[in-house]
Amino acid sequence: MTPFDPFNTDPFFLDVQKNFEEVAHRIGCDKNIIRRLRLPERTFMVTVPFRRDNGQVETVMGFRIQHNDSLGPYKGGMRYNPHVNLGEVAALAMTMTWKCAVVGLPLGGAKGGVCVDPTVLSRAELQRLTRRFNFVGPNTDIPAPDLGTNAQVMAWFMDTYSQHKGHAVPGVVTGKPLEIGGTLGRVEAPGRGVAYCVLKAAEKLGMTLDEKMRVVIQGMGQVGAAAFRKLEKLGCSVIAVSDVHGGVFNPKGLAYDSVNQYLEEHKTLKGYPHGDFISNEDLLTLDCEVLIPAAIERVIHEKNVSKLKCRILAEAANGPVTRDAAHILNDTDIFVIPDILANAGGVIVSYFEWVQDLQSFFWNEKEINQRLWDIMTQSFDQVTNLAQKEKFDMRTAAMALAIRKLEKAMLTRGLYP
Ligand code: NAD
Repeated sequence: MTPFDPFNTDPFFLDVQKNFEEVAHRIGCDKNIIRRLRLPERTFMVTVPFRRDNGQVETVMGFRIQHNDSLGPYKGGMRYNPHVNLGEVAALAMTMTWKCAVVGLPLGGAKGGVCVDPTVLSRAELQRLTRRFNFVGPNTDIPAPDLGTNAQVMAWFMDTYSQHKGHAVPGVVTGKPLEIGGTLGRVEAPGRGVAYCVLKAAEKLGMTLDEKMRVVIQGMGQVGAAAFRKLEKLGCSVIAVSDVHGGVFNPKGLAYDSVNQYLEEHKTLKGYPHGDFISNEDLLTLDCEVLIPAAIERVIHEKNVSKLKCRILAEAANGPVTRDAAHILNDTDIFVIPDILANAGGVIVSYFEWVQDLQSFFWNEKEINQRLWDIMTQSFDQVTNLAQKEKFDMRTAAMALAIRKLEKAMLTRGLYP
């Protein structure tokens, strides 16, 4: 019996689903578990009315997709974006399940999206819209910021839930402001985790982190900027970085503080004086040691993958490499750090935030970064050891590790009733 699958019109979802099925069959995963994990457990589709400042009531479409909670409560970002669709949200929810499993967190995978452009809403409108959602709970489903949402939006989620409960429930969302139960180190966490993976990969390949280690980063957002900063501190030379409008390239290296200050002042990298303009397409094929796509999905595809000239590809964005391109990459000597491992730093520190909220006891930044380092490097070693032992590429090894953990948990729990 083939279940109705409303997500299968989206190429991103199909890639994520096929990747899972391919690895699951290859490692001999239980057939019933494969049938369960290839689709999300729950999909909420809502139409949400909210009042505009001019008194009119507008209605927008929203989704929350809960993929799997065998290991713990659902966890995943909420994005506000006019183009968000069901398949994309399902793909990202599924990816969250693998990500939590591969790094050993007691959490499941979810994602949400609201089809709205937050940049055209006033602060009051954004607040009224956010306060309409009620699928959350600290023991069931814990959202976090994503595209178009931020710490303030999480604060409104937290306050709405807490008002209904009659007391503060900080553990209902992560990525909150510090003063209401947020954690230190959350903003830098995914970029920092990417840098830790690069460090481990370099160590494995016998490379040293010095100025000869040329790094190229697509996307100077939360993840890309933090990776830039950390890799610069570790001694690497970041030679190119971009935003949505294009990038800057300087073979002698760029300075984080200078690029960041320019971006803060001008809101774009266009016109940055200490480098040459480079398009986002050309940036990806620059000669370098480390390439970090940290912007959007599917930027490395069949047409440009054979032009890559990096030694290490650290997938900071979710799904930056299409399935076809991933297969081609396996025949090159590029060392791939797959997204579910490379960018897991974000959900790891979100997990720390949730744990701190539940126990009402907060850690200092040093403790947070140390624990992040421990989990990232341990997971990296587990994936590389499995890859070596079973002759898997890194992407397959990371997926295999995640699937085996889930399979074991699901078979142990059994099927109710
Ligand atoms: P962000 O919005 O802060 O930054 C995105 C950056 O990419 C910006 O510099 C933007 O200008 C650029 N960009 C946008 N569209 C682009 C395009 N078409 N071509 C080139 N550049 C483009 O986002 P972020 O939080 O840094 O997330 C980046 C990626 O990392 C996403 O795939 C996200 O899902 C993933 N990720 C984020 C987190 C997190 O906690 N923020 C955690 C894990 C994974």
